[in-house]
Amino acid sequence: MKKQDISNTGINLKLPSKSCDDNHCPFHKGLKIRGNFFTGKVTKISSQKTAHVEFPRLFYLQKYERFEKRKSRIHVHSTPCIDIKVGDVVKIMECRPISKMKNFVIIENEST
Ligand SMILES: [Zn+2]
Repeated sequence: MKKQDISNTGINLKLPSKSCDDNHCPFHKGLKIRGNFFTGKVTKISSQKTAHVEFPRLFYLQKYERFEKRKSRIHVHSTPCIDIKVGDVVKIMECRPISKMKNFVIIENEST
C-alpha cells in the first residue's frame, strides 16, 4: 500500500481491511484521487463495480436571495475491497475519468 496516495487527500480515512487487485483502486493500485470530495448515500448498485451516489446541495436563487435544496446523483466506481450496499453512507472523491460516466471513486464506507 502506498501511504503517500492517501495522505495527499488531507482527509481522515479508515483504510480498507481487505486487499484487492482492481486496477482502479486508490489504495492497492496507484489511482490518484484529487479534486472534489462529497459524502452521499448509495441509491443503486448498477453493475459489478459501479454504484450511484446521491447527495444534497444548495442552489442560490438570486431573485429570492435564498437557497433551495437540490440533489446530485452521480455514477461512482466502487472497488471490491470496500463492501457497499444500498442505503450506505459513503465518502467519494474525484479521480481521473475511469469511463464515460465515472469520474469518482468510493474511498470509505461510513456505515460499517
Ligand atoms: Zn483495493
